[in-house]
Amino acid sequence: MARFIELPSKNHAARDPAIAVDTLVLHHTAQPLDVSLELLRFGTVSAHYVVDVNGDIYRLVEEARVAWHAGLSWWRDARSLNATSIGVEIVNIDGNRHAYPAVQRQAVIALCRDIIKRHPTIQPRNVVGHSDIAPLRKDDPGTLFFWPELAAAGIGLWSDAPPAAVTESDAAALLRRFGYPPPHRYGRRNGRFEFADEPAAGGITDVIDVSLADIITAFQRHYRPARVDGVADAQTVARLQDLLRQADSAVIDVAARSA
Ligand SMILES: [Zn+2]
Repeated sequence: MARFIELPSKNHAARDPAIAVDTLVLHHTAQPLDVSLELLRFGTVSAHYVVDVNGDIYRLVEEARVAWHAGLSWWRDARSLNATSIGVEIVNIDGNRHAYPAVQRQAVIALCRDIIKRHPTIQPRNVVGHSDIAPLRKDDPGTLFFWPELAAAGIGLWSDAPPAAVTESDAAALLRRFGYPPPHRYGRRNGRFEFADEPAAGGITDVIDVSLADIITAFQRHYRPARVDGVADAQTVARLQDLLRQADSAVIDVAARSA
């Protein structure tokens, strides 16, 4: 029987009560459990929950507080998503190389379901991976993450749409509409990541360009993991269009329910 364990982190901040939690960010730890807990409790980062490979769930930060898991991030025109999100770290050294065991998958599904119940403002398209909101900079929770299983459990979206005939110029606009950032630049200032396209961008070093191919790669890592190559081929774009349709109808469903 998986356990639920309180193990507070020192890293958290107050939430602005005027700002709703509307995003759920899923990560792999890239470290074993003990190292992860040490970093997330006593290092410079944190998450609300850590889910071990055996299904044990550790709560490090209360949902009513901000945890420091997203870092430099961008989704649906919002930047730096810690303030508006819940972060779940899932123990896996590299979700692009190692599968997630069944008992861990079940624990994550149950946890995500509870989180969304507590925060109905989290729309399905806002159940994201770290790589979705920080393309190129992050590749977690990886191509072996169980997004289809989550979607089947009512958490987030999935698409198996067959390929459609479209052009790459469509992809940039569609990705943006779905929530992905446009191509952009980021770098470091005083050791911290910052976007390099803002008016105060002077003094930023180690600038990295995030291209359209990098954004397409992030989309594929989540929604078309069979081939992650940064090319907006017919299957990639067909799934993107299908997901947009699903996302729009999910919003209408919420409105209909509350009417
Ligand atoms: Zn992450």
